[in-house]
Amino acid sequence: MAPEQPIAPHQPESAGWRGGASAVAMLTFAVDGLTPVLAAGRRHAENAMAITHQQFDARRGLPRLLGILDEFGIKATFFVPGLSAELWPALITDVAERGHDIAHHSYSHRPATTLSAIEERVEFERGCEALAKLDITPNGYRSPMWAATWRSSELASNTV
Ligand SMILES: [Zn+2]
Repeated sequence: MAPEQPIAPHQPESAGWRGGASAVAMLTFAVDGLTPVLAAGRRHAENAMAITHQQFDARRGLPRLLGILDEFGIKATFFVPGLSAELWPALITDVAERGHDIAHHSYSHRPATTLSAIEERVEFERGCEALAKLDITPNGYRSPMWAATWRSSELASNTV
């Protein structure tokens, strides 16, 4: 009697896709930092709890996250507002140097739907300029607060 064969895991019809994987996960993170609360209004600048809460991701959370991703050999995409790149240039450079994608996430994280056409263009350009100062070319775009206008895709396709 032949030994019982182990049950093979489910194989997709096309084993050539991603080495035969049946699913792929994409990890993306936003390095928003202070930008969402500052974009909501100056009144938050005096709110120590809001400011320290929003700084945690870049100052403490991001280095820890990068260590975990390195430990498992996982690459991810980080969406970076230009202001975050200006506030934490060493952190954002570290993300890029570890081989992760950096993507454009506006400059100040103000929802595009609240901006004029000129203001939205300035947000795009300032975001690109902040990343360019770190020698980073963004690879992709995510609209802040998931609020894109009809202009946003054209700006993104011409800018990033
Ligand atoms: Zn965001």
